Amino acid sequence: MWTPIAEEAERAARVLHPHGREMQRPAQRRILTVANQKGGVGKTTSTVNLAAALTSYGMRVLVVDLDPQGNASTALGVEHTSGTPSVYEALLGEIELADAVQESTQSPELLCVPATIDLAGAEIELVSMVAREARLKQALNDEALDELDVDYVLIDCPPSLGLLTVNALVAAAEVLIPIQCEYYALEGVGQLLNNIELVRAHLNTSLNISTILLTMYDGRTKLADQVTTEVRQHFGDRVLRTVIPRSVKVSEAPGFGQTILAYDPGSRGAMSYLDAAREMVAQQDAGTGR
Ligand code: ADP
Ligand code: MG
Repeated sequence: MWTPIAEEAERAARVLHPHGREMQRPAQRRILTVANQKGGVGKTTSTVNLAAALTSYGMRVLVVDLDPQGNASTALGVEHTSGTPSVYEALLGEIELADAVQESTQSPELLCVPATIDLAGAEIELVSMVAREARLKQALNDEALDELDVDYVLIDCPPSLGLLTVNALVAAAEVLIPIQCEYYALEGVGQLLNNIELVRAHLNTSLNISTILLTMYDGRTKLADQVTTEVRQHFGDRVLRTVIPRSVKVSEAPGFGQTILAYDPGSRGAMSYLDAAREMVAQQDAGTGR
């Protein structure tokens, strides 16, 4: 008999015994910026859990924490107290990227450039700097990333459209937009799209919105389905089929310095991030130059 417990056990087995889950590393490194200027939509949660999921498929992944709150750094269990070599010093060109990279507690294949509270000043400090929009791109140069040998770079943005987010959009080829299945889900998305267009027109012609991820889906509400339908109508097949469910476990994991894959591998949250990451890898095979 197929009981919920059996189902859960099966899921756990899939996560705990990853053999056969190895996937082809992409021919070309992919750099994705995870952006949405609305706070609390699941940017950080999606960044760290997708990164962990990609790692479990055999990819080597770098997470760049670009939010002064440092939530991604926390979730990956990396040191990020003020003064720790971080993305801030790398943006200012004071240190090389490699000097700020730490291994996550999740896996030695999952790296993180942490953000400290020092980054809070960067939004203003950058204004008067030369090539202020391209500082992150410089830090994430090919040589530095080759040395780290990473297949994916995921950049976690702060909840604003300021210079830090612009730096993230200039440094990446792809944008991943998490959209929360909630009231006003699309509020502000228009503004984000405008900004992405501006960056594409003036600063980074290869930028493209490759991926939309629906987060915090609550199947009990009609609203969640309305949002899902609306987003799919608007963005078509760029919306991943996998939808991330609302789950307490997902929100608990960062408190333990863990991703959901480590915290509760058999949970629906873990499975959904694994499925979403698998779809992302499939995009790569389909030649995501969208
Ligand atoms: P953002 O980075 O966009 O501000 P977060 O990823 O920090 O958003 O998520 C906002 C809050 O929602 C956090 O407290 C997080 O733990 C919680 N959260 C994110 N995804 C889920 C989910 N699928 N289910 C339940 N809570 C979630
Ligand atoms: Mg965040």
